[in-house]
Amino acid sequence: MVAAIKLLPTDEQARVLEDTLKVTNRAANTISEIAWQRKSFGQYKLHKLTYYEIKDEFQLTAQVVVRTIAKVADAYKLDKKTKRTFKSLGAVAYDDRILRFHEDAVSIWTVAGRQHISFVCAGRFREALKCRRGQSDLVFKGGKWYLFITVNVEEPSLIEPEDWLGIDLGIKNIAADSDGESYCGKQLKGLRHRYARIRSRLQTKGTKSAKRLLKKRRSKERRMARDINHQVSKKIVRKAQGTKRGISLEDLTGIRARVTVKKSQRRTVHSWSFGQLRQFVEYKAKFVGIPVLLVDPRNTSRTCPNCGHVDKRNRPAQDSFSCVSCSFAGDADTVAAENIRRAAVNQPDVVCGNLPHNHELTTLSVSS
Ligand SMILES: [Zn+2]
Repeated sequence: MVAAIKLLPTDEQARVLEDTLKVTNRAANTISEIAWQRKSFGQYKLHKLTYYEIKDEFQLTAQVVVRTIAKVADAYKLDKKTKRTFKSLGAVAYDDRILRFHEDAVSIWTVAGRQHISFVCAGRFREALKCRRGQSDLVFKGGKWYLFITVNVEEPSLIEPEDWLGIDLGIKNIAADSDGESYCGKQLKGLRHRYARIRSRLQTKGTKSAKRLLKKRRSKERRMARDINHQVSKKIVRKAQGTKRGISLEDLTGIRARVTVKKSQRRTVHSWSFGQLRQFVEYKAKFVGIPVLLVDPRNTSRTCPNCGHVDKRNRPAQDSFSCVSCSFAGDADTVAAENIRRAAVNQPDVVCGNLPHNHELTTLSVSS
């Protein structure tokens, strides 16, 4: 699996890393130009044509030249009809000879010589990193530095859950569980409203610089949402693990149909990436052997957990539940989460933990 290792370079090291990407990608563009002019696209031929020249001109180490030639040859594999160019800060591939992990620093080749840069990563990767082999990619993303590496981490077998933790994905909170705990609500909503206001102001402006700012805002929001989804999923999985429970989630294909909200809330609901949250939950759960089950979301919000009566009128307002048959009342999110838990308890035969993985992150977006 691919692990993202976050590097913590000093300011000076960050400059050096930036130079390294720039120089290497300039080299790639030069190789591409030669390939294009000579109509010679195979790795072997390109090596013969460019190796020494590139190594001298760009002062790169042998491994990096070899990798860069391979990258160019690879880029032409799809077709040879257009000249390939590489972004100046595009990712650069490393192998074991020019990158090595130590206890808490990585030793990495740069244009200014080898650097020892500290890094952070999930605890479960640390051991695997020391004995790993193969390619790593140095990536500059959102102002931060990462190494994307493939590690072999054995997945634990799934536990036999003693019970299920039902998770309702919602409006008032991003998620609420069947124990009555809710995850990240108000503070986030305030933020998103503020962002939405800023965005609509920029949209009305419509100038070039406004458009650029808008793009920036969007990616900032996406990062924020991603961070929050990481936090929420971590909390949920930890709780399930600590109580030996499986996790029961709604099958998301139904969420839009189920959630009927006031217009003012619609943006919040539909632009939240529940698909991403579900992915994070599944991914983190897999690592600790916690099964995840998707249940049919139909009626989860209108079924009475006390008497089983299903009625639309059981939910008179967005956040309250009150059974018209037995007058059981409670918080609507908790009730929905409880129904999701029960759905899992009642369907023990469904395959757990083996849900198809879609690597494209699903984002429910505004459809207006
Ligand atoms: Zn009832």
